[in-house]
Amino acid sequence: MKLVLQDIIAAIGGRCLNPPSSGHNLITSIEIDSRKVGPNTLFVPLIGERFNAHDFIPDVAAKGALATLTEETTIRDENIIHIFVASTQKALLDLAAYYRSLFQIPVVAVTGSVGKTSTKDMIAAVLSVKFNVLKTQGNFNNEIGLPLTLFGLDEGHEVTVIEMGMNHFNEIHRLSVTAAPNMGVITNVGTSHIENLGSQEGILKAKLEILDGLQKGAPLFVNGDDKLLKTVTSSEHPIITYGELETNDYYCTNVYSEGHMTYATIITPKDTYPIAIPALGIHMVYNSLVAIAIADQLGLSKQDILDGLMAYIPSKMRMNITQTKQGLTVMDDTYNASPDSMKAALKVLADYKAPGRKVAILGDMFEMGDFAPSLHEEVGRYAAMQKIDVLYAVGDLAEHIAKGAKQCEDKNLEVSYYTDKQTFITDLAQILHENDTVLLKASRGMQFEEIVKAIGKVN
Ligand code: ATP
Ligand code: MG
Repeated sequence: MKLVLQDIIAAIGGRCLNPPSSGHNLITSIEIDSRKVGPNTLFVPLIGERFNAHDFIPDVAAKGALATLTEETTIRDENIIHIFVASTQKALLDLAAYYRSLFQIPVVAVTGSVGKTSTKDMIAAVLSVKFNVLKTQGNFNNEIGLPLTLFGLDEGHEVTVIEMGMNHFNEIHRLSVTAAPNMGVITNVGTSHIENLGSQEGILKAKLEILDGLQKGAPLFVNGDDKLLKTVTSSEHPIITYGELETNDYYCTNVYSEGHMTYATIITPKDTYPIAIPALGIHMVYNSLVAIAIADQLGLSKQDILDGLMAYIPSKMRMNITQTKQGLTVMDDTYNASPDSMKAALKVLADYKAPGRKVAILGDMFEMGDFAPSLHEEVGRYAAMQKIDVLYAVGDLAEHIAKGAKQCEDKNLEVSYYTDKQTFITDLAQILHENDTVLLKASRGMQFEEIVKAIGKVN
């Protein structure tokens, strides 16, 4: 990164409180973490609930940082240039927008209720066969993570794939305007964050804010199986649909999983061919379809696409399948959960080819507000309709999962409920049998990875 301080000040509408004494004005890095600051850095002090990073301005000055943004009109340290802005958080986004505008490369932005990280990683895996790709690391998808991701751009990059997350209205608007994507993706409109957004229509509206920053004429890719997304139209952007239904521009047939792989035949507007993906579930085929649609736009060959799909590595705790020494197959999907991803995971468990029992261990899903009981019950009912043998619901809200499952007629599903995770862990040895295939899934806060660890130790 080589930025001229005066250009930065102009881009973010800042005001210099103590003009530079020397002629030196080149910024080579932008940091929000005072521990990462070195010479020629621009420091962006954010204000959080528990900290005010303005307190670190003297520290970063001592480390040789050239300039700092500030929301204060006072000078904290004369050895560092202070640039006043109304909001350092907003300035961080403005800075990222300015930096991104210096690169004439395609930016692909991915949002949606579930599957953002998996889709982003799948797109990046495919595009990496031909291009030098910068992608969001992990789940760095918010108003801090997205600008920091964009600051990672350098002259060697040819494509960027970024994830955009949100909890409230206007967040995707701000992220999209910052990233100015050349292609947008909405994976689905589920029920995540319904507490803040009121209804599924509200969620759709919030996701469609991606259009606010999408470049003129740039395509938007949406899952056309989604009942709300299939209604999306735009006079300014081509809408390209993907999914299982034949009505989609990119669709799939003959989907099945074996071992750690999922196979499908995909039909594109120009071609039909079989694909293999090293991950499980129909949702991974969706993610592949959009990766293929984007790869087609960027001119990748069929062979590039097939190689790219094979290079996909699922992130940790997202449907990672392992075998224990005791002969159990563990499906660790403990990273997070929403009703939609719970259903996707239950379907994977039901379809998985294995000799023993299918056991689902499901926990609470958070951020559902007043909708929580009914959404948990819905997951329970869905589980009861799948070919699953045993369901353990663990946690406070999970009681509603058990309730939903019991409401169904299916007498084949054995349903048990534990309020307390530790008690459940203590009982694990009695609960699990040899050859069981065990799915574990709950919201992040439930820390179901503790159960995964305990299963590894069951004799
Ligand atoms: P977060 O909001 O935490 O960033 P995310 O949208 O990035 O979540 P992922 O981390 O990719 O979502 O996946 C979350 C869960 O959803 C995982 O359990 C994964 O297996 C499942 N999943 C992945 N892709 C899809 C999809 N297209 N549809 C439904 N579920 C999916
Ligand atoms: Mg994510």
